[in-house]
Amino acid sequence: MCADRRKPPAFDPVILDRLACPVCMGALRLDGSRLTCLGCGRVYPVVDGIPVLIADRAKMHESH
Ligand SMILES: [Zn+2]
Repeated sequence: MCADRRKPPAFDPVILDRLACPVCMGALRLDGSRLTCLGCGRVYPVVDGIPVLIADRAKMHESH
């Protein structure tokens, strides 16, 4: 009998401590399946569980 089949999180939140925004070195917050920079507001995608911290791929947060 298997345990429940909950999906694992997008990735281990612990590694968030080791990640920083490549643009402003700000802290990142996991926001659904994306990472939002608390410093400059860029939003980085998480693809296949791997955060894509490339300034080119980031989108500026539109709400505010
Ligand atoms: Zn930033």
